[in-house]
Amino acid sequence: MAGIYIHIPFCKNKCYYCNFYSVASSKHAEEFISALLKETELQKNYLESETIGTIYFGGGTPSLMDYETLMKIFDKIYQTFEVSADAEITLEANPDDLDKKKLGEIKALPVNRLSIGIQSFFEEDLKYLRRRHTASQAEASVKRSQDAGFENISIDLIYAIPTLTDGNWKTNLDIAFSLEVPHISSYGLTVEPSTALDMLIRKGKLKGVDEEQNARQFKFLMQQMKTNGFIQYEISNFCKEGSISRHNSNYWKGRKYLGLGPSAHSFNIDSRQWNKPDLLNYIASLAKGIVPFEKEILTTADKFNEYVMTSLRTMWGCDLKLIEKTFGADAASTMQKKAAKFIERNQMILAEEILYLTDEGKLFADGIASEMFLVEE
Ligand code: SF4
Repeated sequence: MAGIYIHIPFCKNKCYYCNFYSVASSKHAEEFISALLKETELQKNYLESETIGTIYFGGGTPSLMDYETLMKIFDKIYQTFEVSADAEITLEANPDDLDKKKLGEIKALPVNRLSIGIQSFFEEDLKYLRRRHTASQAEASVKRSQDAGFENISIDLIYAIPTLTDGNWKTNLDIAFSLEVPHISSYGLTVEPSTALDMLIRKGKLKGVDEEQNARQFKFLMQQMKTNGFIQYEISNFCKEGSISRHNSNYWKGRKYLGLGPSAHSFNIDSRQWNKPDLLNYIASLAKGIVPFEKEILTTADKFNEYVMTSLRTMWGCDLKLIEKTFGADAASTMQKKAAKFIERNQMILAEEILYLTDEGKLFADGIASEMFLVEE
């Protein structure tokens, strides 16, 4: 089954570290929704009538949209595509949006999974990141969501924030476990070029990120997750048995998806395309009936590299039999040869012809994967 991603490009303000496409104003929200509905119609054949198994509202801040607006999007999607009766439907939400009224509205939508951008339960970290919610709102939003009847909840936590001591990182995880959410996504803070954070660090106004703190807190995260019965099914994603994010797993398993909205990406096995990250251009272009996208046809090397990069990050590992079947025996044996040095360093294991990263290897996942890449002549 395929997935649909909907990008809602509005935020109340820009967090310092944010590298997602969003604008800090909802001035053009109405025109955006008309454009989004138009794009949905224009893209109705992209997934070639495949049933939709997952829908994901990301952003930006989807929880800024009101009930009627979100319902309009749902109506259009249900009219245009065949959506499975047990589809996983996720909405990303900011803690400060989740009051009782809002949660009641979201509950009345077909949404059955919430992904809440907590990031930290400490005020100093939230200030460093320039999140707009407070520490107490963070905790209360999860409890309120549970009271509203949401069980399938994921929370995001960020480590390696310069203000986050090891002690507070432990407390953040303890609070997360005590809230009994079945899914946690956790990322090390990265300073992306041209973000406000990048600029503030360069100007000496904020402290930079420390690699050692990053590695230490990531190791601690993995340990604590294991101790508390969470499965690390992807490097940054942990869940209780049965609560894997089906939408994100589909990305990692190479299934088709359609992305709607500015900056959204789509994938149909042979090509990848992405809408330009420009709201006004998106609105103007769709008013003329044109989806403003760029497209890349994937070469064999692209497909191979993408499979290696994503599969190594997951608990399903990189399957040499599958590589042999899809890319040929030479590709599989080259891969095995390249893996030898990482196996020796205890960064990888090979079991039943599947390569997996060890916890030690997970610290260097991107570097290891790139050494395995196929380089096109
Ligand atoms: S709420 Fe999310 S999308 Fe919006 S600015 Fe913050 S990190 Fe970026």
